Amino acid sequence: MGNESVVKAIARPLAERYAGRTVLAIGAHPDDLELAVGGTLARLRSCGAHVVMAVVSVPSDYATRRAEAERAAKILGCELRILMDGGTPRRIEDVKTYELVKILDGAVRELDPAAVLTHGASEFHRDHVLVHDAAVSTQRLRHFDFFLYHPNFCRPVPVPFHPRAYVDISPTIDVKMQAIAAHESQFGCRGLPIDIYRDIARMNGRMVGVQYAEGLDVGRMLLA
Ligand SMILES: [Zn+2]
Repeated sequence: MGNESVVKAIARPLAERYAGRTVLAIGAHPDDLELAVGGTLARLRSCGAHVVMAVVSVPSDYATRRAEAERAAKILGCELRILMDGGTPRRIEDVKTYELVKILDGAVRELDPAAVLTHGASEFHRDHVLVHDAAVSTQRLRHFDFFLYHPNFCRPVPVPFHPRAYVDISPTIDVKMQAIAAHESQFGCRGLPIDIYRDIARMNGRMVGVQYAEGLDVGRMLLA
């Protein structure tokens, strides 16, 4: 491949790369995906990708959390799935590692995604790390692009994260913020402000010369 072709492959726009294909975003809890990659998921959807937001755990106060997650997914134009859904709340720590891998394997086998986005390794929430570890092993099943997203928090804490790829979310920052606000039980009801997520997107945008961006670490990506 000549230099020009390499540059073209790297710059291949989202639509060309993922239109008509499935993107699987995996988060431990409802709201994780909206906080980290809400703008990216909305952009992928508007580019013609089928985007599945897979929430692994079944939280307590399930009816409320599920309704909020459904509202948020609808705002972003994505399909919501609760992977451990059995009607009763289940924490990820209560599930054996091999069971968690099996659950994620099932989603990957069924959806055959072109890309998977999930938690990074440096998260401070143990559930997030467990999901990260299980998601890493699904790479043995299919040759999808694999991205890791910004650590999540309702109350900010410093966690190391170094993006290596950015998605311009200037057209979708407002729907991202609406999707976050849909998780009222986690923010509005607890008096927690959500403007920090706009600030983070603005800061990431500055890194790459756009108004708003989300940063991703690249686990694996085929340039073809
Ligand atoms: Zn979480």
